[in-house]
Amino acid sequence: MAKQTKKKKSIGWEYAPAPESLAQANIAKRYDHFIDGKWSKPSGGEYFRTTNPASGKKISEVALGSNADVDKAVKAARAAYNGAWGKMGGRERGKYIYRIARLIQERAREFAIIESLDGGKPIRESRDVDVPLAANHFFYNAGWADKLEYAFPNRQVAPLGVAGQVIPWNFPLLMAAWKIAPALATGNTVVLKPAETTPLTSLKLAEIIEDSGLPKGVVNIVTGAGETGAAVVNHEDVDKVAFTGSTAVGKLIQRSLANTDKRITLELGGKAANIILEDAAIDQAVEGIVNGIYFNQGHVCCAGSRLFVQESVYDEVMWKLKRRMETMIVGDPLDKNTDIGAINSREQLRTIKRYLKAGQKDGAEMYQPACDLPSNGNWCAPTVFTNVSQSSRIVQEEIFGPVLAVQTFRTVPEVIEKANNTPYGLSAGVWCDKGSRLFQITGSLDAGVVWGNTFNQFDPASPFGGFKESGYGREGGLHGLAAYLDM
Ligand code: NAD
Repeated sequence: MAKQTKKKKSIGWEYAPAPESLAQANIAKRYDHFIDGKWSKPSGGEYFRTTNPASGKKISEVALGSNADVDKAVKAARAAYNGAWGKMGGRERGKYIYRIARLIQERAREFAIIESLDGGKPIRESRDVDVPLAANHFFYNAGWADKLEYAFPNRQVAPLGVAGQVIPWNFPLLMAAWKIAPALATGNTVVLKPAETTPLTSLKLAEIIEDSGLPKGVVNIVTGAGETGAAVVNHEDVDKVAFTGSTAVGKLIQRSLANTDKRITLELGGKAANIILEDAAIDQAVEGIVNGIYFNQGHVCCAGSRLFVQESVYDEVMWKLKRRMETMIVGDPLDKNTDIGAINSREQLRTIKRYLKAGQKDGAEMYQPACDLPSNGNWCAPTVFTNVSQSSRIVQEEIFGPVLAVQTFRTVPEVIEKANNTPYGLSAGVWCDKGSRLFQITGSLDAGVVWGNTFNQFDPASPFGGFKESGYGREGGLHGLAAYLDM
């Protein structure tokens, strides 16, 4: 088990370790696919390990999905769509979705522990953000299942059929909820492929789906890596593809589906600007910066990884930010005091380290607070780069780690131009005392989500999605339901 770091220089007080007990984490040694309401062995007989990124130790092993497994899952989803589920009214569908939401709530602690164990995120986040939000997505969408004619008045709405859904590792359960809940509310059936490094909470969700009595074949979960994901999205009997992941894979999928009539939504990478104006409440803004980039180790598509500070308050912001960084606890994801958990995989840690080197090579100044990182597992201290240039790779490319690049600005037009100068357009934040100025700036930013005087806030009723290379389509709210409907 990874230990919490002891800070060399403490400006506060040390917290006693408060590790979450593993007693409630009921994890099998091996998991098969969940197809047609049953646990189904992989056709090739192969399994792969899922490991704890905080220790490098194996947690369990899961089935490696082949084309044949995916085909079996799609056939089950099609049969359910043509059968009981397709004929069921919205009111009945809604009851099942409510049941799933309530079962997630009942097993919330178990889900939070497994999410932190498999993915490396601090238990505080899985417990207070991921799991409650996942349940809320099921509750929210359950409410619409029998009211689609009110959601989309004067429209004839119909489900699309079988949805093939592929999700990443940064919010494993939450992404599964974002995908499955609206698909079921609108009467579709599902084949979901979780990320290869974080399959466990999707498989635990399959247990809940089993317990909820959902008709067989409505939700099928096939595990595996990129090839299994490609088999899902390219299967000829899949009507709708919903993908969340990197821009590189999103582009591959878009190319491979170009000549098909499949409906597609792509939720891809980001490089969000977090803009601090001189009249902002600085202490609050510094908390927002920390939440924006260090939350979930920066493994957040909408992370505020580019900070823009108005010159007149730059010294104050940087002094307060560095002081705040010194108090952050990096270590055991299962400890309730931990702020920054483990980096999800060795490969991702290597990527982050490459960017740390690239930033320094480009002449930027790197700051990391003094902290002893645990010796086993994958760790990265919170990092901030100053004196960065707009063209530097650490400003232009998504790092997906706890790494912030800071730039200054003098005028509002200047910061809008700089903020929009990336290939991405997923999210942004603005900190400012004056509402009219805040709205003037937010309206000029090329970003699907813009937060005002806050950051990284999510709500099932609010649509989420990007512009430019951050993808297209929206998830959440009525927009998220519309993506699963023909109308
Ligand atoms: P990734 O693209 O490598 O993998 C995402 C998923 O796609 C995984 O399940 C993977 O197995 C699968 N996959 C890989 N190759 C595939 C292929 N050729 N065809 C089909 N599926 C394939 O991304 P990742 O590293 O797991 O996740 C991090 C990325 O996800 C970041 O870029 C992040 O910004 C993005 N993300 C975006 C959002 C959003 O809402 N916009 C949310 C979360 C994460």
